[in-house]
Amino acid sequence: MATVTPRAALQWDYAPAPESRDAASLRESYDLFINGAFVAPTDGTRVQTINPATEEPLASVAFAGAGDVAAAVAAARDAAPRWAALPALERGKYLFRIARLIQERSRELAIVETLDGGKPIRESRDVDIPLAAAHFFSYAGWADKLGYAVGGRSFAPRGVVGQVVPWNFPLLMAAWKLAPALACGNTAVLKPAETTPLSALLLAEIVQEADLPPGVVNVVTGDGGAGAALVRSDVDKVAFTGSTAVGKEIQRALAGTGRGLTLELGGKSANIVFEDAALDQAVEGIIEGIFFNQGHVCCAGSRLLLQESVAEEVVRRLWARMERLRVGDPLDKNTDVGAINSAAQLDRISSLVAEGEREGATRRSISCALPETGYWFPPTLFLDVAPANRIAVEEIFGPVVSVTTFRTPAEAVERANNSAYGLAAGVWTDNGSKAFQLAGALRAGVVWQNTYNKFDPTAAFGGYKESGFGREGGPSGLLPYLEVGSA
Ligand code: NAD
Repeated sequence: MATVTPRAALQWDYAPAPESRDAASLRESYDLFINGAFVAPTDGTRVQTINPATEEPLASVAFAGAGDVAAAVAAARDAAPRWAALPALERGKYLFRIARLIQERSRELAIVETLDGGKPIRESRDVDIPLAAAHFFSYAGWADKLGYAVGGRSFAPRGVVGQVVPWNFPLLMAAWKLAPALACGNTAVLKPAETTPLSALLLAEIVQEADLPPGVVNVVTGDGGAGAALVRSDVDKVAFTGSTAVGKEIQRALAGTGRGLTLELGGKSANIVFEDAALDQAVEGIIEGIFFNQGHVCCAGSRLLLQESVAEEVVRRLWARMERLRVGDPLDKNTDVGAINSAAQLDRISSLVAEGEREGATRRSISCALPETGYWFPPTLFLDVAPANRIAVEEIFGPVVSVTTFRTPAEAVERANNSAYGLAAGVWTDNGSKAFQLAGALRAGVVWQNTYNKFDPTAAFGGYKESGFGREGGPSGLLPYLEVGSA
């Protein structure tokens, strides 16, 4: 009898598909953008920004001192009356032009965002840059319709706004801040994060190209010192996205000054899966919820709550899916999980994960070859997590999810709401009324049903409790940038 040789299992893998770095040319050095021109920092301080995937220097970037920040605020102050007096339709046209230029330079912007921040090119290309353009488009349309956003009451721009943004979505956060501010007739000083200044500087070039009047948008790069100087300067309103600790400090600094403030801070959001959910779809949503942008997402679904009856099955499918995640070169179009943004953030993730193990939770990290240079952390899940464990309470801001279980919808709500934060939540169920009931009971600014991490310029985003206050996006995103009268 002939012996039957079993067919060899089909082995295949993706071929490398690197985006061409040459499509983006960076200057060796970048200045501050003040009053429509690039100017050197007064004391000459510059710091290299590096590629976190390779630790290679990308460009040397000016660090603004207090004097530079004051000059930017003065330029914005000078420009404010003329910008506010411009017919609203004209302001809208400038925003529209910026949106179009972002689209035109989208490939270059996506590459720079990935080089400077470590996020996969697929995300910069398909999420960050298109959404940044969409925010400018959306608020371009609002510029001459502000009366509808304020219910027919009288309104005026606040004046000069100071805006401080973090490193996780550098261009997108700049767009979230600048687009509504400008549409409402304010002028702005933007302070990007020190590890990801480049896309904001390209945006400054776009602002120049769009022929915006000098001083309407100013960009001061630098570290927390520049941010603190901006917050304490002669601005009429501060908008801050970043850590809760710095947010609290800013709130203390502004207390009693009469200046406007909105804070978009951290989160520890619950992603809740019921037994009646489409489980494969839910698993994709869990992956999207926590591994998108390496988990450097304020609304990341970092607390996974599984109904007890399906918990084992969901964990089994989730683990199988996690093992297929491709971690590596952020410029490769097939990469799912890129580099951690900085050495400091990698330290923070590593120490919280070590603490999770010390406190007795069971850690499972996928085994994948990580590049030898750069900052990397493998996608990780924690089982056997107690609600009081630090990994279940504190924001890790990395690719780490903790899993706990619940029995009833009421218990799911209680567990989800048992957090100092209140930014977002996900609910996975095929039962529409259950989803709506939960959405009402969850203390979270955004609740996604059968999806996660979906953003839209027309929808409001913001938190409760230690996740901050104020909303960005949609008509409610205009309100913090307006003085609204009673008449
Ligand atoms: P951070 O709050 O220190 O930095 C955010 C921005 O604020 C940066 O531009 C920074 O230069 C600036 N800044 C720092 N200190 C300041 C000060 N005293 N006054 C004014 N501006 C100041 O955040 P980080 O150190 O980059 O990250 C630490 C933690 O913050 C993360 O692990 C995460 O928990 C959280 N975080 C949240 C978000 C979010 O989108 N909600 C974004 C980034 C970081």
